[in-house]
Amino acid sequence: MKIITDESCTTYAYPGHPERPARVSLTTEQLLAQTELPISWEGPEPAPDEILLRAHTAEHLERLTQPPDFDADTPFFPNIFERARMSCGAALAAMRAARAGEAIFSLMRPPGHHATRNVAMGFCYLSNIAVAALEALATGTARVAVYDFDVHHGNGTEDILLNKPGAAFFSIHQFPCYPGTGARNEGNNCFNFPVPPQTPRPEYRKVLQRALEQLKKFQPELVGVSAGFDAYSGDPLAQETLEAEDYYWLGKSIRALGLPVFSLLEGGYSNELPDLVLAYLQGIDGK
Ligand SMILES: [Zn+2]
Repeated sequence: MKIITDESCTTYAYPGHPERPARVSLTTEQLLAQTELPISWEGPEPAPDEILLRAHTAEHLERLTQPPDFDADTPFFPNIFERARMSCGAALAAMRAARAGEAIFSLMRPPGHHATRNVAMGFCYLSNIAVAALEALATGTARVAVYDFDVHHGNGTEDILLNKPGAAFFSIHQFPCYPGTGARNEGNNCFNFPVPPQTPRPEYRKVLQRALEQLKKFQPELVGVSAGFDAYSGDPLAQETLEAEDYYWLGKSIRALGLPVFSLLEGGYSNELPDLVLAYLQGIDGK
């Protein structure tokens, strides 16, 4: 298992904000301390403008360099464009590693799946997974699917990939919940699987499985996973019920697709995030 991460992604913070540096630093510590899963580590390169501009407008990139805050959840920081560019660069490296046959996880912040073409929101500034998916399509991949199991709807990914030839998006999320979208399918390639709050684990797994079955029918060559761990029972930002073993099961089920897969950290705000990530990686690894 290869992990892409970089200490620089812990160098911005807003006091009391749930999307905090410890999410990555504590997960890194735990992955370094464990011995069951062999891990190699790699650092990212910043994503270049020409690649970002497939998913975002020039105005958006300009806006990321300037105050004020984007919304109440999404503060401006003087270094946020650099940090977001690095997180996005990690997504690109993960996509390329997956195409080269590696098992790979990007452990970076900021997350990306709420950032639309032109708007930073929901702790997200650049749409890491959509940028990586569009780069894959531009460089030889004919069909790419994005599977988003973060508890929140991936509205930004949907905004950018909507009706894009060769791309399909599958999001499983609590509804109603932030950001309020994702109640139904959109366009010809965005498939939403809303799940009511407090859905019991077996029912939630059935929906995750149904989305995977539909993803298979799309026959992708490559799968990008928006891996958010906030459908966990102990997460403070949603009302779902999953446990660590469900994330292990998810990793195993995604591995069973038999396709090149890259996964990016999205949400997950509980103190157990390191356990949940490790369980998922063990599933992906097949141990
Ligand atoms: Zn989330």
